Amino acid sequence: MKITDVKTHVLEASLSQPFAYSRAWYSTRTAMLVEIETDQGLVGWGECYGPARINTAVVQAMKAALVGQDALRTEWLWQEIYARYRDHGQKGVIIQGLSGIDIALWDLKGKFFNQPIHRLLGGPIRSDVPAYATGLYRRKGGDPVAYLAEEAAEYVAQGFKAVKLKVGFGVEEDILMTRIIRETIGPDIGLMIDANHAYDAIAAIRLGRAIEQYDIGWFEEPVPPEDIAGHLQVKAALKMPIAGGECEFTRYGFRDLLAKHMVDIVQPDTCAAGGISECKKIADMASAHGIRYAPHVWGTGIAIAAGLQLLSVLPDSTPPSLAPVEPMLEFDRTEHPIRQAILKTPIEHKEGRVAVPEGPGLGIEIDRGALERLRAS
Ligand code: CA
Repeated sequence: MKITDVKTHVLEASLSQPFAYSRAWYSTRTAMLVEIETDQGLVGWGECYGPARINTAVVQAMKAALVGQDALRTEWLWQEIYARYRDHGQKGVIIQGLSGIDIALWDLKGKFFNQPIHRLLGGPIRSDVPAYATGLYRRKGGDPVAYLAEEAAEYVAQGFKAVKLKVGFGVEEDILMTRIIRETIGPDIGLMIDANHAYDAIAAIRLGRAIEQYDIGWFEEPVPPEDIAGHLQVKAALKMPIAGGECEFTRYGFRDLLAKHMVDIVQPDTCAAGGISECKKIADMASAHGIRYAPHVWGTGIAIAAGLQLLSVLPDSTPPSLAPVEPMLEFDRTEHPIRQAILKTPIEHKEGRVAVPEGPGLGIEIDRGALERLRAS
């Protein structure tokens, strides 16, 4: 099955109201989708996490290495493209471009063999996965104490067993909001916090110590990804698990993060860290280091489907037992007009669990009408 063309789709949509995390406000959502065509009429879909317009340029530049090649040689194509750009792109947008291509090639492989990707990765360990609600961002106007509590209560009512709160808005405010959310959701729902590396070790430790009493499932990106010593300092100072890795790339980047035990839970993004081929390797490395794996997911239905296909084949976080801890899907609940619109059948949760798509490849069908409607100008 020869590759005949590689297309990219930059999509953009305005939000009904802007929202903020610790470092910026969002007023639009964008997406960069990869479409790979073959001489057998099959088409594969992938997605790149990160700046859409840079990602599209990267994938277009990589097209020459793909057209005319056998689409089923995913491992060789990954190595070939990585080697071609190694001198200039061991991390960042080059690997994000490669990730979207790799996911599209796996979608094609599944369609060619008429099997979902997880069947080709070793077969399912689970057919649905627990999902936690990512939301609880800041809005313009209103009292966060009131609207965050209301939003958290909604997630619990929808059946989610865990929610993640955005922090990094100043230690005192974070302490207050963490207490409010814990009081709202009660003791039985998981609560994680995410600073999006807005703190240094001093601030992160101060926050962490003040909220230890609220049973925090993990403290995500307390300090910048480059700050190895800071991660180790925060990890040593706090009782709660430390998570991170959405800004890390490939087995080589994660090797150092895992070997140094910088985090307790590693969070590669399938659409950024190197695609399905690479993230399976990173997951195996994490398992060997006794570090949990919980993929970062912040994209459209393609990103969610890629995360689900991988999660289906990952071992439980704890060793086999009668009450294992399963790896969790990050389920973004913020407004994203593109996320489900591009799918003919949306991927939804049921009581906080999401079924792994069973159709061939990623197990999703793309609505081309939505691509036209949402195309960025
Ligand atoms: Ca995050």
